[in-house]
Amino acid sequence: MDISVVIPLFNEEESLPELFSWIKRVMDENHFSYEVYFVNDGSTDNSWQVIEQLRKENPEVVHGIKFRRNYGKSPALYCGFDRVQGDVVITMDADLQDSPDEIPELYRMIKEDGYDLVSGYKINRSKGDPLSKTIPTKLFNATARKVSGIHNLHDFNCGLKAYRRDVVKNIEVYGEMHRYIPYLAKNAGFSKIGEKHL
Ligand code: UDP
Ligand code: MG
Repeated sequence: MDISVVIPLFNEEESLPELFSWIKRVMDENHFSYEVYFVNDGSTDNSWQVIEQLRKENPEVVHGIKFRRNYGKSPALYCGFDRVQGDVVITMDADLQDSPDEIPELYRMIKEDGYDLVSGYKINRSKGDPLSKTIPTKLFNATARKVSGIHNLHDFNCGLKAYRRDVVKNIEVYGEMHRYIPYLAKNAGFSKIGEKHL
């Protein structure tokens, strides 16, 4: 299988149908074989019913994992990573802030350019945000770069990332560690880490 997409979600019933049909369109146009794991992190809305419906309509492609309560994004990713089978694993947020149109190039960077991990970087991610948000984000990333020794990443915390399958099978994402996955990857011996402008 070419690609596994892992989507952690908490109360995202409204965006899921559009997100899935967008992913499906991109996958079909590019002739990728793929699977999508929706990890329902204890949603209190109808997200799970929406996932079940998508699964009914696309039984070969859609998988759902359901948490009994809200455990957080890291455990959700961890459970998805445990199950995936694709050569390349893509994570994305469910709120339509990450574009499935980025998938083919991310896939190519892993398969052809030989990256272990590619992290998205939205140049305008913080556009319009107050300084009370952008300054902590900048500090966070500066510290993360320093501690990890990964100097070429602007946004460690971007939800859109691509991984060689080996990487996700060899890291343990727990607590709030989803913010530091490139660091976990590097410590597990995967050092070719890159960035893609979104
Ligand atoms: N999410 C989750 N569990 C949580 C909080 C968030 O699975 O406890 C999901 C959320 O639904 C989304 C992704 O994690 O798909 C990123 O969340 P959010 O958009 O709140 O993060 P931000 O964009 O602020 O980094
Ligand atoms: Mg978001």
